[in-house]
Amino acid sequence: MLTNDLLSQWDRESFLHPSTAAGAHARGETPARIIEGGQGVRIRDRDGRESLDGFAGLYCVNVGYGRPEIAEAIAEQARKLAYYHAYAGHGSEAAIELAHMVLDRAPDHMSKVYFGLSGSDANETNVKLIWYAMNATGRPAKKKIISRWRGYHGSGLMTGSLTGLELFHNAFDLPLNPILHTEAPYFYRRPDPAMSEEAFSTYCAEKLDALIRAEGADTVAAFIGEPILGTGGIVPPPAGYWEKIQAVLAEHDVLLIADEVVTGFGRLGSMFGSDHYGMKPDLITIAKGLTSAYAPLSGSILSQRLFEMVAKGTDDMGPLGHGWTYSAHPLCAAAGVANLKLIDELKIVENARDTGAVFQRLLHEAFDGHPIVGEVRGEGLMAAVEFVKDPGTRTFFDASEKVGARVAAAALERGLIARAMPQGDILGMAPPLCLTPAEAEEMVGIARAAADDVAKALGAA
Ligand code: PLP
Repeated sequence: MLTNDLLSQWDRESFLHPSTAAGAHARGETPARIIEGGQGVRIRDRDGRESLDGFAGLYCVNVGYGRPEIAEAIAEQARKLAYYHAYAGHGSEAAIELAHMVLDRAPDHMSKVYFGLSGSDANETNVKLIWYAMNATGRPAKKKIISRWRGYHGSGLMTGSLTGLELFHNAFDLPLNPILHTEAPYFYRRPDPAMSEEAFSTYCAEKLDALIRAEGADTVAAFIGEPILGTGGIVPPPAGYWEKIQAVLAEHDVLLIADEVVTGFGRLGSMFGSDHYGMKPDLITIAKGLTSAYAPLSGSILSQRLFEMVAKGTDDMGPLGHGWTYSAHPLCAAAGVANLKLIDELKIVENARDTGAVFQRLLHEAFDGHPIVGEVRGEGLMAAVEFVKDPGTRTFFDASEKVGARVAAAALERGLIARAMPQGDILGMAPPLCLTPAEAEEMVGIARAAADDVAKALGAA
């Protein structure tokens, strides 16, 4: 058996981790944490330490850890047929059943699903499908895609460009053409504190309208947004936002992509965020909750209107020149089928709604009026606490004080994994959707104690 010391040494020597301070990690300045097991909302590392996972991995383990039903479905599929491709009309029973189940749960106007492996490649597919559809319908100049500052849509070249966060742009020469960004619907950081939510939504819609007009509507193909901003700070849209944005898109014949990689399959207490906020997208991106991350699988769900444009293209130009070897991989599809069945059986979406309401109430009770808390916000089982130097004047901490990261570290010390979001001093929480009210209370109690530790160290307690 490999010892922890040897694994840590090999880790430093061999493993370039994603989203990690690479040099410091290789020098052993950041500890390696080797996760060994998980059950429900808790994970366990090889040192025997247990943590409440307040972020469900990367907001993806929707049904919780340790579900034998999914493990068995993957094993059974592996014994029967580990792999066959999906090109040229081939498929497996699992992939076809999953496509049917996804469409059954998606909004009524959605028509087909294209499977990939990650949220990033699904958004890459979305961009290509839209460009293809514009070419197929005789509009080759209509190719620009508008995203929002603080949006997160992946880490590839195109999807990293759609992302609107400095960390993912600055050192990589992104964003690429023809990706544009518009105002983030971040009410707490609105330009004028006197603005109501509705007025701020109007402001965001007017900014989008002005951008489309300045670029020329005949050059703008699509707008992409997460129903609720995720990695950019866990920010629910202000009242009226999606209604006003969709009115602008309709006026200029611009398609809507709802990136539901995080919100798909229950996180907000509805099956999809699009249902939750009355969005009528032409594409929905799904990943994480599709298999609860038991296997890597993503999808692009196309509306009937977009599918007809793509079908016209293939009628005129031949087969779609876009595919991955692992599209609709049978093992991942089997995990997806078992996962969606569990989501129904365990009433996971209803639990996200009901325990989510308890979770949000507990967070407000714990943090409203706290000396370093500017805002508590969220929806369902997705929430954020934003730390500021002076809540009265909305004065932010200097980034060098790393307040968000310090609160996350203090929480970890006390047994809770919560995530310091990459831009701002924001503690994000998005636990597995099987969370119980008692676990919600435990989680919020630890988060509050961690914030108190840091407030005390800052002399603000
Ligand atoms: N879209 C959203 C909204 C996400 O939150 C993420 C990842 O967190 C992605 C896309 C990218 O997914 P992946 O990391 O699987 O490529």
